[in-house]
Amino acid sequence: MPLKHKPTHECGVFAVFGHPDAALLTYYGLFALQHRGQESAGIVSAKGSDSTFQQHKGMGLVSQVFKMDDLDELKGTRAIGHVRYSTTGSSTAKNAQPFVVDTNRGQLAVAHNGNLVNAAQLRVELEAKGSIFQTTVDSEIVLHLLAQPRGDGGALAALRRIEGAFSIVLMSEREIIGFRDPHGFRPLCLGKKDGAYVLASESCAFDLIQAQFVRDIEPGEVVIIDNGGIRSEFPFRETRSAFCIFEYVYFARPDSNIAGVNVSDVRVRMGRELARLHPAEADLVVPVPDSGIFAALGFSEELGIPYYPAFVRNHYIGRTFIQPSQSIRDFNVRVKLNLITEIVKDKRVVVVDDSIVRGTTARSRVVTLREAGAKEVHMRISCPPHRFACYYGIDFPNPDKLLANQCTMEEIRKYLGADSIGYLDLEGMIRATKRPGNDFCTACFSGDYPVGFDAEFDKLIMEKRARRVRLLDNEEPRLI
Ligand code: AMP
Repeated sequence: MPLKHKPTHECGVFAVFGHPDAALLTYYGLFALQHRGQESAGIVSAKGSDSTFQQHKGMGLVSQVFKMDDLDELKGTRAIGHVRYSTTGSSTAKNAQPFVVDTNRGQLAVAHNGNLVNAAQLRVELEAKGSIFQTTVDSEIVLHLLAQPRGDGGALAALRRIEGAFSIVLMSEREIIGFRDPHGFRPLCLGKKDGAYVLASESCAFDLIQAQFVRDIEPGEVVIIDNGGIRSEFPFRETRSAFCIFEYVYFARPDSNIAGVNVSDVRVRMGRELARLHPAEADLVVPVPDSGIFAALGFSEELGIPYYPAFVRNHYIGRTFIQPSQSIRDFNVRVKLNLITEIVKDKRVVVVDDSIVRGTTARSRVVTLREAGAKEVHMRISCPPHRFACYYGIDFPNPDKLLANQCTMEEIRKYLGADSIGYLDLEGMIRATKRPGNDFCTACFSGDYPVGFDAEFDKLIMEKRARRVRLLDNEEPRLI
């Protein structure tokens, strides 16, 4: 797929209806969802049906964006929040979510996780009808569609126009609405806290606020929460479920449950499957933290090889961290993980990570292990090789930067400098989830895309818009 741009909408969303501490709960919820987005964070709250929405958002981590005073200002019993991984268009606070607009039917706020595959087309169409976009991200399209004069179908008909991956929370002047696209690419679940309803991208957010997990929102389900309670609609055409399997492999937090399955459990089983498929004779199984921890545990259990977390992670690297001006080789990699050299010296080591994307980090792990005197280094990866782009919200580089798209298995092994290399296969990965194979989107591994897209049209529009954004923002654009 010869694409120069990449959809980058890895995000986390959270919502509360009917709680006096709505904004504070949202803050904690976003804090638990921080792994889904570190670039910006935002909360919008509403006091009553006739009061103006209050919002606070900014660039950085949740703990950096919000001070207690900011949260005190966010009054009301309803709130929605968002953490954003990466920006489309340019990296400015203006693109931080949730977005708020005034429409002729009142105020609306939206927070979106996913990627609309027909964003460019819809945007061209809406602009032709006079819509003026404030930001360069496609989530705003949802608001413009909802603000359009309605035909017969109302808001649900407007939502039917969007295609792709979307788990969205909306706040209107009376309701909180949460919905998942008909394939259910991204997670979204429902909980209860002190009688109030809460929605979150992942269940780990409920644990922190001591909310009770109620259930996952179904693919294609719209839940509408207002003073009358909660109800569901299924406005979308019925289709097969296509949950992103990479959420289980890497993206979701290990303490979350998705579709009744605990993520860490799946990762341990992936490690066991991997050990059966590509066993190794070794003295130690070493995880790459944090992503490889559970798969390494499964690998070690399956083969009875001792597990040792020999890479030690520094958790405190902020985005303002100053890098050395003089060159320290592999500084970015070294600053995050340090190896306990004594442990691996003269040992045959299996190093386990969840995935290889460009191969840069995997390669430097092997170099570090060799420099520490490891006798053999066997690289094991708990998902299949990444060969295809993701159009549904995971940030992967162009396929021509994906190592496995460019190289044979032997070339990968040589590039990494490993004694052997082994990836889990598609079947083993799916088995590890204990869910049926046709429940999943595996496009980044298989090239089997559940939703079509016009890549060339998208590319054209995005490039045109990026030029315009550069003029507006006076900075280098980043194409989605
Ligand atoms: P690399 O092969 O150097 O590009 O990086 C692979 C590492 O990045 C692995 O440890 C993965 O856990 C992690 N990773 C995989 N996918 C992503 C993603 N979409 N965003 C950020 N990190 C990722």
